[in-house]
Amino acid sequence: MRAAVYLVATPIGNLEDITLRAIRTLRECDLIACEDTRHTRKLLNRYEIQKPLISCHEHNEHERANQIIERVQSGQAVAIVSDAGLPGISDPGYRVVQAAIAAGVRVIPIPGPSAVDTAVVASGLPTDSFLYAGFLPAKSGQRIKALDALAAEKATLVFYEAPHRLLRALADAQSVLGNRQAVVARELTKTHEEFLRGTLAEIHADLAARESVRGEIVLLIAGTDDAPAVDPEVPLSARVEQLVAEGASPMDAVKTAAKEYGVSKRKAYNLVEQEKS
Ligand code: SAM
Repeated sequence: MRAAVYLVATPIGNLEDITLRAIRTLRECDLIACEDTRHTRKLLNRYEIQKPLISCHEHNEHERANQIIERVQSGQAVAIVSDAGLPGISDPGYRVVQAAIAAGVRVIPIPGPSAVDTAVVASGLPTDSFLYAGFLPAKSGQRIKALDALAAEKATLVFYEAPHRLLRALADAQSVLGNRQAVVARELTKTHEEFLRGTLAEIHADLAARESVRGEIVLLIAGTDDAPAVDPEVPLSARVEQLVAEGASPMDAVKTAAKEYGVSKRKAYNLVEQEKS
């Protein structure tokens, strides 16, 4: 097997979701670098693969990267796997790839499942363009800022979310983005796989009525569908003034202008304040 760093996708739930090429790579490589050796050992046992393992997780990826590159430079094939899905997608892998490229070492992706695209394709939300934004920040203030920065995005928004934060994330998303269509994809490829589709408020109400929210979760939110039918010469604050002059309340004027300009209400308020000064 040629010396290289192999990025090997592994199942995100159902252990049958692994490609023949991934199995062959794991069987033929010299070393497997994995997030959690016990977790990966279970997968390898299932396919009767015995290989030396080393850990490569978020706390040691930096130093491991150099060791992995040295191994490849000495002629070895090193497979990188994470606990689930594609290494490098909200998982270790990026630093090893960077180090490999810097050292002129070949990187070979072995594609397979990832929760992002698995959720997108079955969500029913537009798939022609989607923006994967990783995990939303855990703190509400930062989460609101992150959502606000995506408010004008037309592409379907995709996030990974922890179950205990999901209700708060749904509530923040509704307050920042409005009550958009959304999907919660839970436990993909597993026995209790579930898709909750509806508005952010409907999904929130459904989940809030449950005893608890559990499992692994992908949250998808429709992008903004408001074509900015605005005159680029007219600043947002002028449009707000115009709407007020036409009889709208200042609050409704900001809301309408925010929609027309494809920005969140909060951003519209800030723009009005900035443009005033
Ligand atoms: N590398 C992985 C990938 O390619 O999808 C993602 C790893 S990230 C640390 C783990 C997060 O991915 C989970 O917290 C969850 O948000 C999402 N995820 C992973 N497996 C999932 C599944 N079976 N169903 C729903 N979401 C999943």
